[in-house]
Amino acid sequence: MKVPILDLAPAIAELRPQLDAAYARVMDSGWVLLGRELETFESEYAASLGVAHCVGVANGLEAMQLILMAQGIGAGDEVIVPANGYIATWLAVTHVGATPVPCEPDPHTYNLDPARLAGLITARTRAILPINLYGQPADFDAINAIAAQHELFVLEDAAQSHGARCHGRAAGSLGHAAGVSFYPSKNLGALADAGAVTTDDAALAEKIRYLRNYGSKVRYQNEYPGLNSRLSELQAAFLRVKLPHLAAWNARRAALAALYRDQLTGIGDLVLPVVPAWADPVWHLFVVRAARRDALAAHLAAHGIGTQIHYPTPPHRSPAYRDGGWKRGNFPLAEKLAEEVLSLPIGPHHTAGQIEFVCAAIREFFAQPQR
Ligand SMILES: *Cc1c(COP(=O)(O)O)cnc(C)c1O
Repeated sequence: MKVPILDLAPAIAELRPQLDAAYARVMDSGWVLLGRELETFESEYAASLGVAHCVGVANGLEAMQLILMAQGIGAGDEVIVPANGYIATWLAVTHVGATPVPCEPDPHTYNLDPARLAGLITARTRAILPINLYGQPADFDAINAIAAQHELFVLEDAAQSHGARCHGRAAGSLGHAAGVSFYPSKNLGALADAGAVTTDDAALAEKIRYLRNYGSKVRYQNEYPGLNSRLSELQAAFLRVKLPHLAAWNARRAALAALYRDQLTGIGDLVLPVVPAWADPVWHLFVVRAARRDALAAHLAAHGIGTQIHYPTPPHRSPAYRDGGWKRGNFPLAEKLAEEVLSLPIGPHHTAGQIEFVCAAIREFFAQPQR
């Protein structure tokens, strides 16, 4: 048996007739950018979250960058980001000229630790940018309370959390605005790069509509220095096909997560994901921890089981941030996670049999005498 970490082919196959029809609709329309498919997807996606506005953009990185631009956040400003997240979150801050200020994670949920926030806030802090990491919402009640005290903007990185909930509220609606990615591997993925900004703030949404299109809504009238960051009609049409299936596909992921938990509890030093009572995660990834992580990954690979590491290098240790002045040891929790986390296969098209095979291989690894 082979268990790939990710395989898009079965997801495409399941919806192939509808995707083909969406493709034909766009081809027949002769309209490929900023048209009816995008407008319709934007209202459908906003409605699915219970937010007032959704603005489609080219990808998740630019969604966050555009929000920061619209807020006028730039050189001299600080934005608090997770120390252990994906580098795109940091890059959004860097690209507007602001400074990322890393915050260590909660040691159990791996999400930004609200208890550490107050100590990082300075006179220059403008925004907090938590990630709903691996599909689990960050503690937005605590984060929003601290942000309100200090009058800070809260930008939610909702790239991994389509359909997740925090105290019953939808991910993508938890801060002042959210950056969403529809990268193909996400829980709601297009068939190329795509993204969106979601918010209840009408003025912010309106400004993003300018900024995603050279700062213009009327051709050759440029109100702001914007980007070219548009979500194409074709990808919007594909996303409209997939959105109605998101809840069912997330439910399949949840069933597989439950199976992992059932079969892997109490094995060696393996640490399973911790889910607070108020969180309703969508299992974008199923991330375990083990001290002998690399040996475990090699053992699984030998059994035809794909794994990945999210993420092997914390952004402050990445060559891209070599000029940031950070050193090994600055963020010990983030660094320890990078050495121990391992993502196991989980997706709407993995079977229970495949997950049981993965679990058997993991139990076999921990039953072996240590070499
Ligand atoms: C995927 C991802 C992004 C970036 O989204 P793109 O659409 O690839 O630009 C940002 N943050 C997180 C946490 C992600 O997982």
